[in-house]
This record gives sequence, structure tokens and C-alpha cells, in this order.
Amino acid sequence: MNHASENRGHGETSCPPIKETMDNRNDFETIIIGCGIAGASLAYFLAERGYNDVLILEREEQPGYHSTGRSAAVMAEIDLLPNVLQLKLKGAGFIRKPPAGFSESPLLEQSGVLAMYQGPKWDAARKLVPLLEQASVEFEMLSPSEVTIRMPVISPKHLDGAIYLPKDGIIDVHGLLWSYLRRARQRGVELRCGVEVQGIRVERGQCLGVFTNAGEFRSRKIVNAAGAWVGTIGKLAGAANIQFTPRRRTIIAFSAPDGLDVKGWPHVVNHSHEFYFGPESSGLLASPMDQDLVEPCDARPDDLVVAQTIERIEKLVPRLLPKSLKSKWAGLRTFAPDQDFVIGEDPLVRGFYWLAGQGGTGIVTSPAVGQIAADLIIHGSTDRMDARILAPTRFESR
Ligand SMILES: Cc1cc2nc3c(=O)[nH]c(=O)nc-3n(C[C@H](O)[C@H](O)[C@H](O)COP(=O)(O)OP(=O)(O)OC[C@H]3O[C@@H](n4cnc5c(N)ncnc54)[C@H](O)[C@@H]3O)c2cc1C
Repeated sequence: MNHASENRGHGETSCPPIKETMDNRNDFETIIIGCGIAGASLAYFLAERGYNDVLILEREEQPGYHSTGRSAAVMAEIDLLPNVLQLKLKGAGFIRKPPAGFSESPLLEQSGVLAMYQGPKWDAARKLVPLLEQASVEFEMLSPSEVTIRMPVISPKHLDGAIYLPKDGIIDVHGLLWSYLRRARQRGVELRCGVEVQGIRVERGQCLGVFTNAGEFRSRKIVNAAGAWVGTIGKLAGAANIQFTPRRRTIIAFSAPDGLDVKGWPHVVNHSHEFYFGPESSGLLASPMDQDLVEPCDARPDDLVVAQTIERIEKLVPRLLPKSLKSKWAGLRTFAPDQDFVIGEDPLVRGFYWLAGQGGTGIVTSPAVGQIAADLIIHGSTDRMDARILAPTRFESR
């Protein structure tokens, strides 16, 4: 079974049995709002350190319903944003080699990632080489003709060069999410689904609890891991006004052309022409890397964007032109104004923590982000990264 494909695409996620909390406790040391990959990873890393008096509240009936369940599941240790790259590198180590007993099967299908660039982006990508070497990332620099020799469906005219990452590939998002949750639950963390946070109790600048459709829960530490809704939750708390932008991204899945064995193909992304494709279950997936600004919502694919995807395929990899679609889905990638993540205690409301703005890399970075957030909640500091880069306080002086 291709585990990696199980959690790619809306509606494909089925929950393994995980017992929800049924007792009447309503007082916790920490409450996490949102059970996507961010909330789940934080719960795991808190519990690992014996900090298990934690309640996760999720509005939907199952974890991972929104962005987490709709990602392309790619682990690519390359990024033009240096802080995001740092977090990816840290996260990749865990995904490649999780602690013994963490998951029942490997979390990564090492099928490779081919990142292609043209023009100024190729100049910028080449500058990453020393960083990748320093981080011992395995990679190969490829010329346009070398790319075409390896993958004849790609024309050399749409790229100036590529970086091939043979040890990267597709993450088993389903396995990662549920491993975090299972291990956290085993250590005492509680999860309640179908519970929507509708208000936050703050007195004299200290948060004290949340109001929900299932009553009030008390806690002096509340973590905002609500994905596209982090801005809404921030407003409920009267916290710093950070202008997060949820952006929709669309993916289509279709059969590979007859006679073409795409199974061993890497995930291919053309950053300059905003297009990616790669193997998905028995066929292919593709995205026009759209990023339309939308209100937080249960995102659905837009017909125009689907048509745009087909146009990109026709222009960039015409041999792959689909006869029909097997499925299509969309999800939201949520960014802070400077595109760096927002992790740490709010400058206005004590005990209110942000775990937000993971954009399009929240799955691969989740092990790093979860550990950093756990450090900040438990100790108030971290030595894994310069916490000032991630701190919500950075928006204060703007
Ligand atoms: C199409 C697409 C492709 C992507 N591809 C990749 C990729 O290849 N690699 C990668 O690393 N990342 C990828 N990403 C990004 C990644 O999916 C996200 O960064 C990540 O899932 C964000 O996780 P999250 O937990 O913050 O958000 P979510 O998964 O959205 O979780 C937030 C949760 O909070 C809950 N919530 C919101 N408000 C409330 C409330 N009031 N009360 C209770 N619960 C609430 C929501 O119901 C939701 O379940 C992709 C994203 C998309 C959309």
C-alpha cells in the first residue's frame, strides 16, 4: 500500500481508532486549539517531556481535516527562504529517522525531488549550495539537458538548471499525524473533536481558559494552532494583530498516459513556472502552485484554477496531458506577513502562544516546530534556533 498517498487529498483520510476523552475534566495545564499536524506535533513533544496535562480541542469530527489532510506531502530540503530551510532541515532528520517505536512503518518514501529553476530564481537557488553541503544534504546539480536525459517528458527550454535531492520524497502524512497523536495519548494527552473554541477568557492580561460549544475549559497556557483560523483565534484573545493570509492551493490527480511507468518518478517542481507534478497512487498529481488569497474556509478547487493546471501541463509537460481527472482538491496555506513562522508567547496576552504561519511547509517542518514550541512553553526559551526570528513580538515595531 502506498501510505504516502493515503493522506494526500481531501476526504482520503480515515481515522485509526483513537479514544477521545469522555471524562468531565475541564482544567488543564495547557490547551491546544486545533488538531492539524502543528497541534499534534506539539502535543507529542510536550508529552515526551512529561508535560502531559494537555487538552487538544478540534472543531472538526476528526484531526487533520483541513490543510494537513490536503497537502502534497513532499519533503524537499531546499527553500529560498533561509529560516524556513533551517526548519525543513531539522524536520527532515526526524521524518527520515524517527525515534524507535514512533511509527509502525517508514514515514518517508524516498522517491526523490527534482527542483527546477529559471532566471533569477536559479541564481538564488545556486547560492544555497554551500548551505546544503554544510547540512550534509545529498544533492546533484543538473543542467537542462541532464534533466531531459533523466526525464524525457521535461523540455530543457523551461529551466536553467535543477537541484536533484535523491534522499527526499513523499511523507506518509497520515502515519506522521497519527503517530504524534497515538504517542501523545499514551502519555496522557487528551483530545476532543467536534469542539469549537468560540471565546477566550483573558483577565488582567493573562489568559485563563476557552469558551466552546461544549462548555468552558480552564488553562493558563493556550496554544493557537488553528491553521487558517489563527488570526480569528488571536482576535478572540485580544492578542497581537498579526495579518495572516490564508492562500488556496489546488491539486489535481489523473491517470498516467498509457505505456508510461511513472511509479519511480521523483516529485518535480518548476519554481520559476509555478508548476509541480509527481506520482500519486497509481497515477500522477499536478498543481499550478496557485496562491489566491481567501477567507479561512473549507477550501474547494476553483474550476478556473483547474483549467489553468491543464494549461500548464500542456505547456510544460504535454506528454502528461490528462484525458480525465481522477480527483481534485484544494487546501489553505497560511502565511505571516514576512513568510516566517510565528511561534512563541504573545506580547499582549500572557500564556497565549502562537504556533502559526507554516505556509506550504507545515508537514516537513512539524518535528522542528513542535520541539521549538514545546521548549518555549516549558522553558520560555529554545536553543534549537534563534527564537527572535519566530517570535510574535517581531511585528510590534512595524
Ligand atoms: C495543497 C497543499 C499542499 C501542501 N503541500 C505541502 C507539502 O508538500 N509539504 C509540506 O510540508 N506542507 C505542505 N502543505 C502545507 C501544510 O499542509 C500546512 O502547513 C500544515 O498542514 C498546517 O498545519 P496546521 O496544523 O497549522 O493547520 P491545519 O491542518 O489546518 O489544522 C488546524 C486545525 O485547527 C482547527 N480549528 C480552527 N479553528 C478552530 C476553533 N475555533 N476551535 C477548534 N479547532 C479549530 C481546524 O479545524 C484544523 O483542523 C501544503 C498545503 C496545501 C493546502
